[in-house]
Amino acid sequence: MNNSKGITIVISGPSGSGKGTIIKQLVKNERYALSISATTRSPRAGEEEGVHYFFKTKEEFEEMIKNEDLIEWAEFCGNYYGTPKSYVEEKKKEGKDVILEIEVQGALQIKKLYKDAVLIFIIPPSLSELKNRLLGRGTEKEDIIEKRLKRAIEELELIKEYDYLIINDSINEAVENINTVIEAEHMKTIRNFDLINKIKKGRF
Ligand code: ADP
Ligand code: 5GP
Repeated sequence: MNNSKGITIVISGPSGSGKGTIIKQLVKNERYALSISATTRSPRAGEEEGVHYFFKTKEEFEEMIKNEDLIEWAEFCGNYYGTPKSYVEEKKKEGKDVILEIEVQGALQIKKLYKDAVLIFIIPPSLSELKNRLLGRGTEKEDIIEKRLKRAIEELELIKEYDYLIINDSINEAVENINTVIEAEHMKTIRNFDLINKIKKGRF
């Protein structure tokens, strides 16, 4: 069997591109664990503390930064978002592939910190479809949507920093493509040195 060491997976993409919807499907597979971020944004209808986010005040969040409780953090459209360290480390030790659903500044911090992280960028089939999805989701007011669309265009500049680009036209296809990417990543020789050493010694 190939290396079962957990992989750090970063999933980014413009707000409304479908990251949340895709990840909900992915995590039905127990090989994945989803990191839960801390944020200063207010909960949306239906969002629960400790399930979707750890909701913090600005002061609490700044305390987490000061105590180095976060692997990475960034400011996005007027709020702080960050990844708590302990959960990611714990799940990787258990051999899970840990998904970080984070924006681009955070993704670049992870890329520096974990050289073997896999960075995946999700885009919608078009910008007009992105706007339709944001409007359809109905969780943000028009001015916030405009802010998020502007930010989406800025984020597209950084796609080249990512390893994989996935177009979310059909959800099922996008999910399948991500599963394929991760399966292939586990088979990379660079992730299989222990097995290669065994092979060299004729012990496989
Ligand atoms: P994100 O997490 O990237 O902000 P969401 O997962 O919340 O995006 O998706 C935004 C909206 O688009 C949601 O209403 C979701 O149901 C819808 N959506 C996601 N993927 C697709 C798709 N492939 N086709 C049509 N609608 C989609
Ligand atoms: P939302 O408010 O739509 O839940 O998230 C806004 C943006 O913040 C999304 O692009 C999401 O990926 C990103 N985000 C969520 N959690 C984190 C985090 O822990 N760190 C960083 N850097 N970005 C995050």
